[in-house]
Amino acid sequence: MTAQILDGKALAQELRAGFKERVAALAARGQKPGLAVILVGEDPASQVYVRNKVEACAAVGLHSGKWAYPADVDPAVVLAKIAELNADPRVHGILVQLPLPRQFDAAAVLEAISPEKDVDGFHAENLGALVQGNPRFIPCTPYGVMKLLEKGQVDLAGKKAVVLGRSNIVGKPMALLLINAGATVTVCHSKTRDLKFHTANADIIVAAVGKPRFVTADMIKPGAVLIDVGINRLADGKLCGDVDFDGCKAVAALITPVPGGVGPMTITMLLANTIEAAEREAGL
Ligand code: NDP
Repeated sequence: MTAQILDGKALAQELRAGFKERVAALAARGQKPGLAVILVGEDPASQVYVRNKVEACAAVGLHSGKWAYPADVDPAVVLAKIAELNADPRVHGILVQLPLPRQFDAAAVLEAISPEKDVDGFHAENLGALVQGNPRFIPCTPYGVMKLLEKGQVDLAGKKAVVLGRSNIVGKPMALLLINAGATVTVCHSKTRDLKFHTANADIIVAAVGKPRFVTADMIKPGAVLIDVGINRLADGKLCGDVDFDGCKAVAALITPVPGGVGPMTITMLLANTIEAAEREAGL
């Protein structure tokens, strides 16, 4: 068997084309969705992510603003900026690029963002709504995974899904979305015993571990659906995922590549959340 490849780049382009129409509908009512991005410190990866987000906004007609601070900034300065952005009617979405430097209480910063503008979906109120199966904003990466599964026509009801990783931004919200979609979900992490027992029984595996080529062909069952969230930079500078793509594609039925799988979907769903916020405010 050779797996069908779920192309996140193509799906992202398809969705973004639809966003332009929604932005045009808002423009006809005198509204323009706006995203505010806060970046603290000089982490090169964070700088690339923020630049990509700002460029993606411009490409679909959203306005965006970036506020960059040195790594040693007083957290009070950032909290004051968040308060200002919360009150600014031109801003529909606010995101703080993670990770934050050590002097920050990251949870307190995320809680300072108005839940109505929390387009990353990390605020406790929004995570609570997701737990209840009635989300306001779905965290962008798991949201992108759900869109990929939908595109691949993966029927989740009654399926066994294994999520590798239990972070607040990927693993946990991913598990909730799969549960809400009717899958029977197992969440594995670094303390899980006999990981292969779980993965070998899974119809769907979402890997968000942060270890290159962690999921190998011998760990999966024939015909499995493999969604690779991992982004790992190898010594030669190339990117690879948490799944051994070349080995697993001979066993799986559907697989996402890295790059070109989940990555492009994450920013796409950030745009979706920002547009949704503006539409909600416009009463659409
Ligand atoms: P974290 O480091 O926060 O979480 C990693 C998770 O993997 C933890 O829950 C950890 O368990 C678990 N883990 C570590 N080792 C093992 C192991 N041997 N067996 C099973 N589980 C293990 O990472 P994130 O969730 O933030 O990100 C995961 C990956 O996804 C990274 O590569 C990241 O770069 C990528 N990513 C990609 C995005 C995209 O847009 N494509 C967006 C966000 C992240 P424990 O909790 O016990 O420590």
